[in-house]
Amino acid sequence: MKINPRKITRIECFDSIDPIEIVLSDRNRLPALVQPLHILQTGIDSPGSVPRRSTPIRELATDLGWLGLFAVVAGGGSAVAAQGAIALSVAALPTLFGQLGMIGRLRRLIVGHTHEAGHGVVTKFYLEKGLSKKAAHRITEAILDAGSILTLTLNGQDYRREHNRHHRPLMLGTHFDPDGKVLKDWGLWPDQVDSLKKALWRTALSPIWHYRFLKDRLRSNLGRGKPYRRVLAALWLSTLCVSAFVLPFAVWVAAGLIPFGPGLHVASLMQVVTEHTYGHKDGARDINELAARTWERIPYNPMPSAAPTRDPMGWARWCMKMCIRVAERLAILDSTMIAHGYHHLAWPIGRPFDEWWLTSHKYLEAKKDGVLPEGADARIVWGVGGALDRQAEHFRAAGSGQIR
Ligand SMILES: [Zn+2]
Ligand SMILES: [Zn+2]
Repeated sequence: MKINPRKITRIECFDSIDPIEIVLSDRNRLPALVQPLHILQTGIDSPGSVPRRSTPIRELATDLGWLGLFAVVAGGGSAVAAQGAIALSVAALPTLFGQLGMIGRLRRLIVGHTHEAGHGVVTKFYLEKGLSKKAAHRITEAILDAGSILTLTLNGQDYRREHNRHHRPLMLGTHFDPDGKVLKDWGLWPDQVDSLKKALWRTALSPIWHYRFLKDRLRSNLGRGKPYRRVLAALWLSTLCVSAFVLPFAVWVAAGLIPFGPGLHVASLMQVVTEHTYGHKDGARDINELAARTWERIPYNPMPSAAPTRDPMGWARWCMKMCIRVAERLAILDSTMIAHGYHHLAWPIGRPFDEWWLTSHKYLEAKKDGVLPEGADARIVWGVGGALDRQAEHFRAAGSGQIR
């Protein structure tokens, strides 16, 4: 049977088609003016594009700038929305946009900056630029601290130690993997759930789960780690709390409480539950098994093949799906998370790199050079929704003992 790639949106196998080609051919159908937005949304560069030159410090400054800007949009929007019903209908969407953007930048502080500093690539980057070992190490520690203090998540030093286990092939996807352990603790494991999606709703709406999450974050910041770091975390927490008495209440809730609290929790939950196949009993024995536990998540849905005038309903459906994908891109899938599978594969296949903000660019280069492990090419899913569908399938198979 011939497969129509544009009809594939869920868990079907991509063996005979290339989703990257679909993304690029869709881009060519768009007016040149909106193509940069398509690149931004998908995280997939156009062939021949020049990689962006940057540094870890410049990336951090840029993300902090975006965080501030999104906070102004969320806070400003909520201040307008509080004026009445008509103002609310106008300002609700910009407020939500600002909040999703804030959550995404906070997540990037963890999964981008703190995570990559923990891997040592920041130190390597600055050593190659000629900095002394001591200076490069100081920058790494400062980024580790900045990312984990501003987000009040697991302190950087503990994160570094824990995350190394996430990269061990014999642990990835099992409950020995720290991310797997977190999912198991939250009751999101094949032998604990009947329906993954129902369990996710239950988790995300549970006040007890949010309370436990917050408690763990504060314990890691205030009760563990280096003394100077604890003091800085306490000062930042005090600032967030005191701002409740300084800012209008609606602004504080929209630009403080929600993005730093439940919003961050849910984005974190959706990232972790869709980043790899979980619920494995045993580790990966070789590079192909490792590749089979990873995937790339492109926050995108293929456009209808007919022109908008010939298929208006199809395009209306596509626009609705893309609204969800834009929200995913803003809050959950920062550019490094799109090609997270390659983050696991680059080092084992001998293609290490230090410019972590170019992860998806490096992935595309490796794909073009044909050096990805067997099957990795086919493991691309459409966004968080696509990965969730595959995870639910995987949980069912693991629960019935069909997967090791
Ligand atoms: Zn990592
Ligand atoms: Zn991972």
